[in-house]
Amino acid sequence: MAHKKQIILLGTIFLLLCYHLQCFGQADKPEVPVFDSHKAFQLLVKQCDFGPRNPGSQGYKRCLDYLVKTLTALADKVEIQTFPFTFGNPEQTVTASNLIARFSPQKSDRILLCTHWDTRPWADADPDPRNHKRPIIGANDGASGVAVLLEVARLLHAHKSQVGVDIVLFDAEDAGISGDTWSWAQGSAYFAKNLSARNRPRFGILIDMIGDADLVIYQEANSRAYAKSVVDLVWKTAAELKLDAFKPEAGPSMMDDHIPLLQVGIPCIDLIDFEYPHWHTLEDTPDKCSEDSLGQVGRLLVQVIYGLKQNQ
Ligand SMILES: [Zn+2]
Repeated sequence: MAHKKQIILLGTIFLLLCYHLQCFGQADKPEVPVFDSHKAFQLLVKQCDFGPRNPGSQGYKRCLDYLVKTLTALADKVEIQTFPFTFGNPEQTVTASNLIARFSPQKSDRILLCTHWDTRPWADADPDPRNHKRPIIGANDGASGVAVLLEVARLLHAHKSQVGVDIVLFDAEDAGISGDTWSWAQGSAYFAKNLSARNRPRFGILIDMIGDADLVIYQEANSRAYAKSVVDLVWKTAAELKLDAFKPEAGPSMMDDHIPLLQVGIPCIDLIDFEYPHWHTLEDTPDKCSEDSLGQVGRLLVQVIYGLKQNQ
C-alpha cells in the first residue's frame, strides 16, 4: 500500500509541476477568450425571428431595438448614427441607422470590425418571379455577420483587449439597385464620410455572408489590392488556427461596405463567401447556415483582436 501511495504522491507532484510550468510558459501570451459558436448561431436565429429587416419594416424596428439594447449592455459607448435613406426615390425616404459600439473609446490605437444588419427588401434573385418583390429573411446575408460580431462584443465586454475596438453594424447596404453601384453600401458611405480623425482605425475587417454551411472564403480582389497587409494577417492567423474555410487564393471583386472605407484611406478587407445559391432569395434561411461557419470566422476575429499589441 505504501508503495502505491508514494506513486500517487509523486504523480500529484509531477502534475502540479506541469501545471506550474505551463502557467509560466503562457505568461507572455495574451489570453484569448473562447468564441462560442453555439451562442452565435442562436443570435442568428434570434434576428431571423424578427422577420425581414429591410429599412422601414416592422422586423427592422424590432431588431433595431434589440441590437441597441444588446450593444448598450456590452460596449463602453454606443452611438446611433442616423441618416436619410431614399431607396433611390426621394418620395420614399426613411431614417436609416448605423450602430457604432466602442470598446475602450479612450484608446487612439483602434481597429474596426463591421457588417451590415439590414436585409434586402426584394428577393429579386428568387427562382420564382412572383417572389421578386417580397423581402428576404437574410439568415446569411445580414444576420450571420451581426451574430458573430454580437458574440465578439460579449467577449470584449468580459476580456479587455490591448487595442480599442469599434464594432459597426451598417444599415442600408442591401437596398441597392442592380446596375447602380453606388446605390448599395449607403450606411458605410455615410459612416466613412463622417469619420473623425480621432476615431480612425488602424485597419478594418468587414464580414458579410459568412454563415453558409458550405463556407469558402477567398481573398477578395479589392482587399488584396488595397489592404494586403490585413489580408496577410488574417490568412496567417487562419492558417495557425487551421480554419479550413479560408483559402489563400484570389477571389472575385466585390462592391461591399469595405469600398467606402478604402476610399477614405482605411485599409479594410471583405471576408465574404459569395458562392451562396440562396443569395437574395426567400430560401436564405437559418437551415442553410451552420454553427461551424460562424465559429471559424468568430475564432479568427478573436485571435486577431487579442493577438494585437497596442502601438505606443
Ligand atoms: Zn445582399
